Amino acid sequence: MSTSARVRADACPGVFATHDAADGPLARVRLPGGAITRAQLGVLADAADDLGDGALHLTSRGNVQLRGVTRPGLAGRLAAAGLLPSPPHERVRNILASPMSDVAQELAAALDKALCAVPGLAELPGRFLFALDGGRGDVAGEGADVCWRDGALLLAGEDTGLRVPAEHAVEALLSVARAFLRTRGTAWRVSELTDSGPLLKDIPGEIVEPRGFAVNPGLPVGPIGDAIVAAPVFGRLTSAQARAIAKAGDAVVTPWRSILVRGPLETGTGLVTDPDAPSLGVSACIGRPGCAKSLADVRGDAARVGRTPRVHFAGCERRCGKPAREHVDVLATEDGYLVDGERVPAGELATVLVKEFSAEKGTQ
Ligand code: SF4
Repeated sequence: MSTSARVRADACPGVFATHDAADGPLARVRLPGGAITRAQLGVLADAADDLGDGALHLTSRGNVQLRGVTRPGLAGRLAAAGLLPSPPHERVRNILASPMSDVAQELAAALDKALCAVPGLAELPGRFLFALDGGRGDVAGEGADVCWRDGALLLAGEDTGLRVPAEHAVEALLSVARAFLRTRGTAWRVSELTDSGPLLKDIPGEIVEPRGFAVNPGLPVGPIGDAIVAAPVFGRLTSAQARAIAKAGDAVVTPWRSILVRGPLETGTGLVTDPDAPSLGVSACIGRPGCAKSLADVRGDAARVGRTPRVHFAGCERRCGKPAREHVDVLATEDGYLVDGERVPAGELATVLVKEFSAEKGTQ
């Protein structure tokens, strides 16, 4: 099997191997399925205050990052809170699960446990992503390497035609991961393989004609039954907001930089719960001054644009944190921005994006 020729080391940050950012060490804490108990949220809020920059930064994989972690002691706190069940596996516990699906959430917990029980799987690349979709099609569109979607097995987003019942889903996903490790060469993602067929060997299940599945948007913010989906602006959850959520109950961090809160959330937290709030369509990498590579204060500029279509601002071509779904690409340059590749002076950005938003609305 031929693969891409990428050979550089896996640089995905974790708790032990932090990323050296301009604002200090960045630690990423994996939350399989996004699930977090109220007690764990309290521990993270305290760690952000005592050791970092006072906030939890939500990621597009439903994890959290702590920035500016210049003081020691994070790993000990996380381990005591059950957030580091297997140190060797900490960077490979990348598991998305439909936030509202009990089946997907339970399977995510079971997959995490089984993954951590296999020493060899600690060698998976940190980018390898599992997904468990309860059938809504929400996390199935998030670019997972292998996804179980209510019985259907998908590789790199494509239906394989293999059908696996829920009771064998964990075994099937681990089988794909093991086969990927055996055959990957220098590939980091399933999409880089020229032939993914061998990944399905040894998985029992019914074979049907592969089909196209509709992908659905993530959970909208606002109330859903007894729960509420709340979004911090730019995914930056302050320690005070985290404590307010912890007071309400256990939660699920979604891959859409929001949190499903399973309890009554107090008012006045500054979290966005209005589905029409202008900030909701906008995401941005950390930009200046947090990242030395950034050519602009992208969050500052993004905050000034008002209502836009789904848009992602990036300070450089790496485009960290860009959504897997369709969006307008806004890339900082030395003298302004490129909007979907077209040069726009910084002073005209808001006008261009608002115009795109109006055009998009007009076609709906
Ligand atoms: S996209 Fe570039 S500027 Fe933004 S955080 Fe990533 S590396 Fe830094």
